[in-house]
Amino acid sequence: MSWEWRLLLENCTGCGICYDVCDFGAIRMEREMAYPEPISGRCTGCLTCARECPFGAIEVVRQEGVEQLE
Ligand code: SF4
Ligand code: SF4
Repeated sequence: MSWEWRLLLENCTGCGICYDVCDFGAIRMEREMAYPEPISGRCTGCLTCARECPFGAIEVVRQEGVEQLE
């Protein structure tokens, strides 16, 4: 199963929480970057980043469509 996460840029504040909570190294966020970026092929679809983002700025998706959180 292939997963990826997508950033809803209009909601993202660049706080970095998603980067801190991803245990799979699937989010890149370097100091000079204002926003996180996905690292292709690493996302496991665990949904932690989407749940922890205070601003609802992440969707985790797979081939079948958007994974609903609640
Ligand atoms: S946790 Fe949400 S608001 Fe913060 S950097 Fe990640 S996507 Fe953006
Ligand atoms: S869904 Fe899980 S593995 Fe994928 S980017 Fe978010 S925290 Fe990382």
